[in-house]
Amino acid sequence: MSKVAHYLQEHLLGEVMTSADARRYFSTDASIFTLTPSLILYPRNENDVRKTTRFAWQLAERGRVIPITARGSGTDQSGAALGSGIMLVFPAHMNRIIELDPKNGTIVVEPGLNYGRLQQTLHTHERFLPPYPASYEYSTIGGAVANNAGGEKSLKYGATRGFVKALRVVLANGEVIETRRLGKRDLNKKLGLSTFEGEIYRALDALLEESRGLLPKLDLNVTKNAAGYNLYDIKRPDGSFDLTPLFVGSQGTLGIVTEIVMDTEVYNPAHDLFMAEFDSLEAAERAVLELRDMPRLPSSIEMVDGQLLELVDRLNPNQLKDIVSRPFPKAVLFIEVDDDDRQGKRVVKKIAKLLNDLATKVEHEQEAAAQTRLWKVRQAAASVLAHSEGQLKAVPIIEDGIVPPNKLQEYIAGVYKLFAAAHLQPAIWGHAGDANLHVQPFLDLSQLGDRQKAFRLIDEYYKLVISLGGSTTGEHGDGRLRAPYLEQLYGPELYELFTKVKAIFDPYGTLNPGVKVGVTLDDIKPLVRNQYSLSHLYDHMPRS
Ligand SMILES: Cc1cc2nc3c(=O)[nH]c(=O)nc-3n(C[C@H](O)[C@H](O)[C@H](O)COP(=O)(O)OP(=O)(O)OC[C@H]3O[C@@H](n4cnc5c(N)ncnc54)[C@H](O)[C@@H]3O)c2cc1C
Repeated sequence: MSKVAHYLQEHLLGEVMTSADARRYFSTDASIFTLTPSLILYPRNENDVRKTTRFAWQLAERGRVIPITARGSGTDQSGAALGSGIMLVFPAHMNRIIELDPKNGTIVVEPGLNYGRLQQTLHTHERFLPPYPASYEYSTIGGAVANNAGGEKSLKYGATRGFVKALRVVLANGEVIETRRLGKRDLNKKLGLSTFEGEIYRALDALLEESRGLLPKLDLNVTKNAAGYNLYDIKRPDGSFDLTPLFVGSQGTLGIVTEIVMDTEVYNPAHDLFMAEFDSLEAAERAVLELRDMPRLPSSIEMVDGQLLELVDRLNPNQLKDIVSRPFPKAVLFIEVDDDDRQGKRVVKKIAKLLNDLATKVEHEQEAAAQTRLWKVRQAAASVLAHSEGQLKAVPIIEDGIVPPNKLQEYIAGVYKLFAAAHLQPAIWGHAGDANLHVQPFLDLSQLGDRQKAFRLIDEYYKLVISLGGSTTGEHGDGRLRAPYLEQLYGPELYELFTKVKAIFDPYGTLNPGVKVGVTLDDIKPLVRNQYSLSHLYDHMPRS
């Protein structure tokens, strides 16, 4: 055991592990990358996190930088849950619901709490947390906050950021802070502190003031965006100030979250679900745009394309049996409405009319069992993720681009073109209402040719979404994978602003380095693993 491991073991309540097995287990997440941590630490409480970051800070002051990576369940597809130093694993102990107020639905939770368990508990109080990711059954709430996760309900309810009211965060030097929206008087108190927290408030406030003209450029014309740092909503015109929206989505690069206060929504299990088939992408896009214009947004507009149906029909034909049949449509949309008041009912009627005009076939279900049957088609995307042919695997390299909704058709056509040029079969699914699509090519990462193909696709795909006015990531985060494209996405001035923000919070580069900023394609190429697998997740049924 190294001196560092010894020191931590002696001073912390949580366990420290350095066995080759443990290090190997945490050397992968759900991304294509691998990086082996030097030690694993299971913090028992916030004090353990505080002491660890303090210790790393003191070593860094003497010139020795040991990276610290926070980890939930490691389902990150961008490589952000990997690190070469200390891996702080939260689900083991810091996994409690601390408070749940059934009246107003506010919850206080620890980051290692399993999202699915939280959701089940909320349901028993007729509440729910809408921005759940497809991976919610096997991921944590801390991971969702750090990634600003979103999912099928984000169309109506937005992404995670909108639900986080306050945080407790351990800063790079071990100080613990609480974030929430502060009025002018409270902000002035923070600005006057002689601590690292005070330094952060002063430096960030000054930076935001001097960059005021740049900030509107952060607001891309997309409905969800997990790229870069969210500097937009920290300081409001009324002078109030909140670090919470900045920490949300920062992927453990600015501080380590130890407690989360969130709002939840009233849960209405009664839904209307439509499944509509389209014989052209043009008609599907028109339907999406008109659905977005309804007096109330549907709670979901999800999609699978005809290519995915072809693939699933080959891999697992039972999944589609008696629901969708050949010749397959170009696209299938799933439209869900979860309001059952009068206005909701009126919207359902309007949707039925719209779909009858634009789609070639429409099914409308109100019973839960019948809806589950229809959703099976959307969830067929999971058969793509779980499938392998020899060493060929669906790899998450271009899986989360988002464009303005009126560019949906162009986006899909662009993806088809890239795949045709690479002699690969595309299969597309995702959140059509947000024009946030998931697509994973089948590649064998043990072959040099396929690794080169992967990086060609990466380059062409991210250029495509940027050229369409989109963002490189709607919900999965930059991580290591998309960090090299952040400057292209936002331009050099905003990128420089991001690097300044990182330097304010993490002057020695101990917090999850190699994620979000300061990353080139040459940095990530050597990290690609030889074999991609979702083996960490096979206790569950991966959904996507
Ligand atoms: C099959 C599949 C489907 C998916 N579907 C979706 C989807 O629909 N929507 C979506 O948004 N994402 C999706 N994801 C990505 C991922 O599952 C989610 O972002 C999830 O919320 C991550 O949670 P986790 O517990 O696995 O976090 P991890 O992977 O462990 O970590 C994610 C990030 O959070 C940071 N982090 C974790 N805990 C803390 C903490 N306490 N403090 C600071 N930083 C912390 C990590 O350092 C890392 O940067 C999917 C992934 C897979 C494999």
